[in-house]
Amino acid sequence: MTKNTDLHSILKTYFGYDTFRPLQEKIITDVLNGKDTLVIMPTGGGKSICYQLPALALSGITIVISPLIALMKDQVDGLNTNGINAAFINSSQTEAEQHAIYDRVKNNDIKLLYAAPESLSYLESIFTNTEIALIAIDEAHCISSWGHDFRPAYQQLGFLKNRFPNVPVIALTATADKATRDDIVNQLNIPNATQYVASFDRSNLSLNVKPGVDRMQQIVRFLENHTNESGIIYCLSRKSTEAVATKLLKEGFNAIAYHAGLGHEERSTIQDQFINDDIQIICATIAFGMGIDKSNIRWVIHYNLPKNMEGYYQEIGRAGRDGLASDTLLFHSYADVVQLRQFAEKTSNSEVQLAKLERMKQYSDALTCRRKILLSYFGEYLEEDCGNCDVCKNPPQFFDGTIIAQKALSCIARLKEQEPIGTVIDVIRGAQNNTVLEKGYNHIKTYGIAPEISWNNWQQYIIQLINMGYLEIAFHEKNTLKLTTLAKAVLFNNEKVPLTKPTDVKIEAPKKTVEKATPTNNLFERLRQLRLEIAKEEDVPAYHIFTDATL
Ligand code: ADP
Ligand code: MG
Repeated sequence: MTKNTDLHSILKTYFGYDTFRPLQEKIITDVLNGKDTLVIMPTGGGKSICYQLPALALSGITIVISPLIALMKDQVDGLNTNGINAAFINSSQTEAEQHAIYDRVKNNDIKLLYAAPESLSYLESIFTNTEIALIAIDEAHCISSWGHDFRPAYQQLGFLKNRFPNVPVIALTATADKATRDDIVNQLNIPNATQYVASFDRSNLSLNVKPGVDRMQQIVRFLENHTNESGIIYCLSRKSTEAVATKLLKEGFNAIAYHAGLGHEERSTIQDQFINDDIQIICATIAFGMGIDKSNIRWVIHYNLPKNMEGYYQEIGRAGRDGLASDTLLFHSYADVVQLRQFAEKTSNSEVQLAKLERMKQYSDALTCRRKILLSYFGEYLEEDCGNCDVCKNPPQFFDGTIIAQKALSCIARLKEQEPIGTVIDVIRGAQNNTVLEKGYNHIKTYGIAPEISWNNWQQYIIQLINMGYLEIAFHEKNTLKLTTLAKAVLFNNEKVPLTKPTDVKIEAPKKTVEKATPTNNLFERLRQLRLEIAKEEDVPAYHIFTDATL
């Protein structure tokens, strides 16, 4: 049945590789033996070859179902460049174009034909008159409403196995969880498919998390260590992709914004320019990335916290596809947690979404090897600490933070648990801003008890107290801080509190912005002005920015 069983020579001739990646050869052999398979491999793991190589080895045509036209086009272009006859068919083509493809199929001139599930009707004449070698369902998680990219049209694909019971089906996805997997094989009518699950460990990616304060300055510093290296900055909103790109341009970087609000052409131009290294930095919403086959993306930054670990993993996975060391940096801000919670609460399956967000937050707050946490989310167990995340490289140093904790907790008690973290820190540090003075907080006993600890470090200490359960944020009461029973043990029973040294993030107001702000020597007032400006620029309620800097 196979024309050419020398898989390695096909791999070398058509794809230029000497060796298979883990699992590829086993999967390909199964497919060539006519077995149904489900392939779970992380993004960049090398799923495509699992059906492209059999397509070359088998006689007949391989039908590839793929969700996005842009994705198909890239794949087909890539295949044609490698001398493999491939084409796609979809509703945007003219009838003449479609007929040209039918003719090529008839003449055995196409080995791989790509189509979206919505375009199956165009395949009818091929289905009836052509030898079908293999059916590949790419991004197969789209079939499952459990998955994160549900596409109703995928659900009709089950008929393929009924109609072509002897043609092997290979389903491929990067989504690993068991519920989605079971759903895929059931809906595709391939209950006996062999399931191949590749390791999700991408050890060449460094994992780093930093507090989301002064993000632009941190990014500029980061970029100074990544001169001329391609990378993506993921932002939560379209507005902030534009804002971040604009700021980077002003700093002299080669950056551009990308989001679903741009026209189709503009988007594909940007993609091409990025792939050809004409653009170095893409500031994007999560709309960017699916199907971008650029192997030398050297870094990915998350300007905002992702909604869940799946998204985070996919997005950082776009870096270092060539296997070389690449850096990832995630900014962790409680303003994002607040906002994402609000989004999640509005969804139909809010409980699941909130739980997923909680896992994301736990990962960001972690004081143990981050890769262990990330992989355990995907059901994988890493025996040793990875040595390539910020926690492994800089293990937290605990010290006796009881006095610091008592100062914060007693201040919160004196403020009758009615203030958010920003005001609490201002009072502890003896700030003289409007809120403090108007509310008479300068007369309470804990006013100015610890100005020697920087604002930023206070912020990190208080976040640690929240994470350890001494404090809670009342999200529905203007983010005011509440003491828990644990806190009472610290205040009244002198219970010991271990804290870790804060991450070093300097707060320096950028020069240009300070000039615009009201001239004042009071650093806090300056920061306040700055945050108001950012709020205006990013079009979010100032309170988000305040909680960001304050929380
Ligand atoms: P996925 O679909 O799993 O996200 P792709 O199939 O697009 O991944 O492959 C990702 C990258 O890995 C591509 O650049 C591809 O050419 C490369 N690749 C795949 N298999 C191998 C291999 N055996 N050796 C080297 N590179 C490979
Ligand atoms: Mg793929």
